[in-house]
Amino acid sequence: MRSTQPGRQRRPGPPLRALTEAEGPRNCGACCSTSRARRCCNTAERTAFGRSVADFQANRFTLAEIATEVQVARVFLDQCVAELVAGRLSAVDAAMAKWWTTELQQRGVTRCLQLHRGYGYMQEYDVARDFLDARASTLYAGTTEIMKEIIGRSLRP
Ligand SMILES: Cc1cc2nc3c(=O)[nH]c(=O)nc-3n(C[C@H](O)[C@H](O)[C@H](O)COP(=O)(O)OP(=O)(O)OC[C@H]3O[C@@H](n4cnc5c(N)ncnc54)[C@H](O)[C@@H]3O)c2cc1C
Repeated sequence: MRSTQPGRQRRPGPPLRALTEAEGPRNCGACCSTSRARRCCNTAERTAFGRSVADFQANRFTLAEIATEVQVARVFLDQCVAELVAGRLSAVDAAMAKWWTTELQQRGVTRCLQLHRGYGYMQEYDVARDFLDARASTLYAGTTEIMKEIIGRSLRP
């Protein structure tokens, strides 16, 4: 962001800085990915052999696993959001939140897609769009590998 005074660079205050520096977009992406991972668990009613698809234990286990991972991610994200708002979110925590939640979204939506019946493959429906977007979410604002690089470097003695 440029100052109106030529030759001087104005550093934005905390709220704007939260949106313009890398931690903000990474944390924002992490929040989106987590909520989209959760919504893919809301499977459409589909009956097979006289029962809802979600009534089959194997499918219930799939949904339970994803819902649990989402809940765990939310707890960490709540902490990250509070740190971000306070202007204290570290690059390492932002990187952890970003790679973990975007990979979670990808894993979750890939597993849940077929539980949504044919709607899972039609782009008019959220789950199909989430399937496409999940892959890109692991790339923009820094790829998973770059996030791990940031974290890994912080662990060096
Ligand atoms: C849908 C989408 C929207 C985007 N929107 C924006 C936007 O709004 N604004 C913006 O500025 N950019 C945007 N981007 C760009 C995005 O942030 C970059 O493409 C991304 O960060 C990867 O950087 P790069 O393209 O320079 O690839 P590179 O950094 O060259 O990486 C290429 C490959 O090498 C791997 N790699 C690189 N370095 C290492 C390493 N040290 N160790 C291991 N692997 C490594 C990467 O993981 C990746 O797989 C968008 C990208 C996508 C896909």
